[in-house]
Amino acid sequence: MSTNLGKKCIVCDSEQITEFVRMNSMPIYSNVLWESRQEAVNVSRGDIVLTFCTDCGHVFNTAYEPGLLDYNCRYENSLQFSPRFQKYVSSLANRLIKSYDLTNKTIVEIGCGRGDFIRMLCNMGDNHGIGFDPSFDESEAAKNNGHVSIIKDYFSPAYSHYKPDMVCCRQVLEHIDKPTEFLSNIHESIGNRLQTQLFFEVPNGLFMFRDMSIWDVIYEHCSYYCKHSLKTLFAKSGFEIYECEDIFGGQFLYLEAGAARDTKKSNLGVKNARMEEYIFSFKKKYDEITGQWSEKLDQMNRQAASAAVWGAGSKGITFLNSFGQNSCIEAIVDINPYKQGKFISGSGHKIISPEELAKTGIQKIITMNPMYSDEIKKTICSMGIKAEVECV
Ligand SMILES: [Zn+2]
Repeated sequence: MSTNLGKKCIVCDSEQITEFVRMNSMPIYSNVLWESRQEAVNVSRGDIVLTFCTDCGHVFNTAYEPGLLDYNCRYENSLQFSPRFQKYVSSLANRLIKSYDLTNKTIVEIGCGRGDFIRMLCNMGDNHGIGFDPSFDESEAAKNNGHVSIIKDYFSPAYSHYKPDMVCCRQVLEHIDKPTEFLSNIHESIGNRLQTQLFFEVPNGLFMFRDMSIWDVIYEHCSYYCKHSLKTLFAKSGFEIYECEDIFGGQFLYLEAGAARDTKKSNLGVKNARMEEYIFSFKKKYDEITGQWSEKLDQMNRQAASAAVWGAGSKGITFLNSFGQNSCIEAIVDINPYKQGKFISGSGHKIISPEELAKTGIQKIITMNPMYSDEIKKTICSMGIKAEVECV
């Protein structure tokens, strides 16, 4: 561990920051998929140097180089094919429509991906939506009816004429290396429409470091927010915070805020007293967990057994890049048809469908997220796959 001289926290500007774990030469993309194994293996790599701010509790990668990443069309992180996730998203849309009386309103979604969430908000509440995403595949525009349009660009003050009643931004902020600038831009785009509401959702850093969700560490995420650092960021950027809580089994954090410049009303609450303890024991526990898996996979290799990882999301991709050189892991499975047939960054594994997996006779399936365990087991059972299932 070392103090980063001259560097500051990207949320609160404090110099009280300490490096606590380092992962060298990681693929810079986890959610970009490739057409060939060669392209996948040749992906650019970067270092991850996780650094903790003792003032606001924020964790960020001091070795992050934003210029390496290009969020183009191949970016695929939709979870819409999971019934568990679908249920979460529709109940979230329902709640937002009720809480903020979202009917006949204008909603902007920043980083809307394929536009599933903005379409849901507009269809359910009869709203008008504008999604922004530089990775939007314009051949999918036909899915949008008259209520929704998607702009293949970053949201900026150039689009302030849309005058949104609500701005949503889910699973985006953790990719932004200058979050205070990003939020100031949003504030400027909202202008004097102080009744505009904001809904932001990010992965929960506390969950990650307390519950050792180590496979969620990816290069694309330059930030890991805890409640305190997320609230600090919004208060500092001139927003009034209404609510900030965890959701989705504690894996995500959401924050609801208003554009009013009365930040005195924002109660930042107290910092989680145990955060430092979680952070500074992370490295030791990380080494233990990766050591155990390495041993387990080596043993399978010696027994000529084969395994597959289920879930070609960030977690599965980090796992494969930690052990992908171990030949007992033959495949990665995903139910999302957009992912099947493509290759994952770094280790170069091909993504196959559950139907293809059924033909392989693989003995072990490694699942990445307990939130999806039940639906995965159901699928495996219905397809007559006899493999042993273990969640990381
Ligand atoms: Zn800080």
